[in-house]
Amino acid sequence: MSARILVVDDIDSNVRLLEAKLSAEYYEVLTASDGPTALAMAASERPDIVLLDVMMPGMDGFAVCRRLKDDPATRHVPVVLVTALDGRADRVAGLEAGADDFLTKPIDDVMLFARVRSLTRLKAVIDELRAREASGRRMGVIAGAASRLGGSGGRILFVDDNERQAQRICAELAVEHRPLVETDAAKALMTAKGPLDLVIVNTTSRAFDGLRFAAQLRSDEATRSIPILAVVDLDERQKAVKALEIGVNDILARPIDPGELAARVRTQIRRKRYTDYLRANLDHSLELAVTDQLTGLHNRRYMSGQLDALMRRACAGGEPVSVLVIDIDHFKRVNDGFGHDVGDEVLREFAVRLASNVRAVDLPVRHGGEEFVVVMPDTELEAARRVAERIRLHVAGSPFRVMGGEELLTVTISIGVATSNGAGDSSNALLKRADEAVYIAKSQGRNRVIARAA
Ligand code: GH3
Ligand code: MG
Ligand code: MG
Repeated sequence: MSARILVVDDIDSNVRLLEAKLSAEYYEVLTASDGPTALAMAASERPDIVLLDVMMPGMDGFAVCRRLKDDPATRHVPVVLVTALDGRADRVAGLEAGADDFLTKPIDDVMLFARVRSLTRLKAVIDELRAREASGRRMGVIAGAASRLGGSGGRILFVDDNERQAQRICAELAVEHRPLVETDAAKALMTAKGPLDLVIVNTTSRAFDGLRFAAQLRSDEATRSIPILAVVDLDERQKAVKALEIGVNDILARPIDPGELAARVRTQIRRKRYTDYLRANLDHSLELAVTDQLTGLHNRRYMSGQLDALMRRACAGGEPVSVLVIDIDHFKRVNDGFGHDVGDEVLREFAVRLASNVRAVDLPVRHGGEEFVVVMPDTELEAARRVAERIRLHVAGSPFRVMGGEELLTVTISIGVATSNGAGDSSNALLKRADEAVYIAKSQGRNRVIARAA
């Protein structure tokens, strides 16, 4: 997976070196030599990752990072801070400024590519979710924007065979979070299936294989999306690389620095909540987007996709598809005589009668207002007409009980039936023919079915 990477450093030779390394691996590289330029490029060029030097004259890396993370347009772009080798304080400050990761100078190639790969994957997921959320919002079904999601109060599982050490670290984490220690990997796998925001695993544990544990978390559906923070020995570079390859989200070097731990934990939890938030809204928006809120039937948007697919098949010589277009007769009189709420009751009751009088493969839809459509796969005109007649009788045959049973209303409907007519036909043309049939039914006195031969 390739990516556009913005490299920011005030020293030209540093920029060139990183550019050469990344380009050699087919990454697209953009460069900037100061903070303001970097901010402008992040906004206009939409990089996938920003590699940001800390020490720069004027606006330093922390300030640039903070600005990137404060701007909703760039907040989701992973920022990797490039710090001096002994820059532990820098790293903590950087993570506090919202940085997602860091690399130390001189930059180790293996670590560079492992981090870039892992962040590229994460960015791809977030982009996908953001795109869907954006289209959901365009459809007007998501109320309100994501507020800044906090990174405290997280449920954390610390998996470490050294219980005393783990308890000591958890005592620090407990100031902000709800940590929990598990010394047994098998038990930890079970615990991880419960509600959790983060798993921290000590890969230097002797009682179990921390990398295997991380891999097991990743391969199980129930635990796949939990962020994992791996504690590693800096001397065991291959293990760190392996951990990132398995899909560990972040790495923490031993001995554990409490400040760095707190900052990394906060970053992971914030990121998880962001993703959870997007997912929750995504599910909700998709459901809202295809469902009619008044009747619970599917809506026109959902129908279009289904009908188009059936129509393509029919046009290519497949089974025919029929549609019923159903319009309630003199519905305006219901509203005018009894009020809009009673009108709504009638629509809901009608939807129930409609849905219970079609086959499971048929798709009843509220097309808009008091007009409904039934899409009927593999159905010839005559069969569709018979179903339409059955629905008509079922509606006209027994009055609708409204206002808590106080009032009985006789409701009738007019139905137009049409069937696909082979190559060259389209969903729109099919619906139009059924519409024209409804018009004929209305003009002939309503409460009837008109089937239109192609
Ligand atoms: P026709 O027999 O010719 O179809 O007459 P009609 O009165 O049913 O048709 P018309 O299109 O003139 O009026 C439809 C009415 O349906 C007008 C509109 O206010 C009402 N309507 C549309 N959507 C809703 C709704 O969600 N709830 C209620 N209560 N009324 C609705
Ligand atoms: Mg109408
Ligand atoms: Mg009507």
